[in-house]
Amino acid sequence: MSKVARIPGYQSKNPKQNRGIIGDREIRYKCSLQNVILDVLRGRPGWTEVPGQNSQVPAAQQGTRPSNNTGSSQSSNIIIPSRFSDGDWDFYWCDREWLHQNYDTMFLHEHQKILHFRNHYELTRKNLMVKNLKRLRKQTEREQGKTEAQSFDFYPTTYELPSEYHIFVEEFKKNLGIIWIMKPAAKSQGKGIFLFRRLKDITDWKKGEYQPLSDQTRDVPETYVVQRYIENPLLIGGRKFDVRVYVLVCSYNPLKVWLYRGGFARFSNTRFSLDSIEDTYVHLTNVAVQKNAPDYDPEKGCKWSTQQLRKYLAAKHGVDKVQKMFKSIDNIIIKSLQSVQKIIINDKHCFEMYGYDVLLDSDLKPWLIEINASPSLTASGKEDYDLKFGLLSDLLNVLDLENRLTGKEKRIGGWDLLWDDGPIVADDNMDCTPANGSAVSTPNSYLGCFNDRKKQLREIYLTAQSVKKS
Ligand code: ADP
Repeated sequence: MSKVARIPGYQSKNPKQNRGIIGDREIRYKCSLQNVILDVLRGRPGWTEVPGQNSQVPAAQQGTRPSNNTGSSQSSNIIIPSRFSDGDWDFYWCDREWLHQNYDTMFLHEHQKILHFRNHYELTRKNLMVKNLKRLRKQTEREQGKTEAQSFDFYPTTYELPSEYHIFVEEFKKNLGIIWIMKPAAKSQGKGIFLFRRLKDITDWKKGEYQPLSDQTRDVPETYVVQRYIENPLLIGGRKFDVRVYVLVCSYNPLKVWLYRGGFARFSNTRFSLDSIEDTYVHLTNVAVQKNAPDYDPEKGCKWSTQQLRKYLAAKHGVDKVQKMFKSIDNIIIKSLQSVQKIIINDKHCFEMYGYDVLLDSDLKPWLIEINASPSLTASGKEDYDLKFGLLSDLLNVLDLENRLTGKEKRIGGWDLLWDDGPIVADDNMDCTPANGSAVSTPNSYLGCFNDRKKQLREIYLTAQSVKKS
């Protein structure tokens, strides 16, 4: 048996069955990262690397793509052809900077696929995410009433600074004594974040940060968000954690969303307490922060798989309560994506794999903290490597450049189809069935459930083959 045929769910021994949109030639990819995604691409049978990552064709020589500044969800696939198209690749895992520089002047062939939507920042910048959520919430309240609008109660009260400083001060005065968290809108990995209780702390900060004249490199103050701090996080072993959830969007119009079963919880290294609000090792769960803690143990790490977390929570709080909590996470995913659905420049060539950060409070209520367009794909250990390898391999299986599936699948490896222009209902509920047995008509959502991805892939590829034959 050839190496190719042994890979589950990839190529058939019969080359005719392997002809996809790209035909029977190799699939050419480019990748601007040097981590697990590159391993996945290099290990994928029939795929070949195109050298010279991030190479740039001068804009003047390229085909032009009309930019869409209207804020509408109209697809921007109308392309003015050019002799100099960037057609040397079929698949590009590019970085956001490259896309920003090149998208508007890029000519893409029918089959080409590229990571990121042009204006992904509408969801992934902290201030814009909240702005878009607030807008959809208001609209929902207007059109469907207050009760329906309550389904948006999953992000902590947030204001953009400096633009909403005065509204924030009003709110601050109404709730004296609570803790707030300040975060730079466009930074990541916990950079520039601090907690405070007194307005005086922010006055000091204002002096340092909001004085453009004292900082020659900046002519406008850096945008921050100030957010109500979740003071009652759910603790395990006395430690705070948040959950990383992977979501794949293949299209915004219609909205098509996949949810990955695997993921992890990231714990802080130090026991939680509200006494030391200046201690980032207690309050920020980012791995980038925790790995610098003086007593951090790289062997032990600070992660649990989402499966482990789900099992633990079900044993401690009961299956039904945990099922409800996971359903609320589905709601967070769908509502947040809907909040930008009309704004994101939809393009059939683009896809996005988001990393959602969700914090659970002591009532098991999930809170949306942040959405990342470039979640870390660097592995922190063997288990993390396996998770990310499976996640990314199955992402390629979902995109199916080889055209080996029917396009009707509800599950592909570890990815479950959560939304396709409407909610997807589960066929069965496997080992995440609620205790009361109400498995009928449950959403097709299995976050933290058993992930027998290789077995499942073998099955769906066999089914797809026979469907295609008939
Ligand atoms: P960054 O993009 O820098 O990682 P995040 O918004 O993800 O910024 O915040 C970093 C960490 O701080 C989170 O992983 C979480 O542990 C903690 N955190 C952020 N916002 C809150 C909040 N409102 N309440 C409690 N903890 C928070």
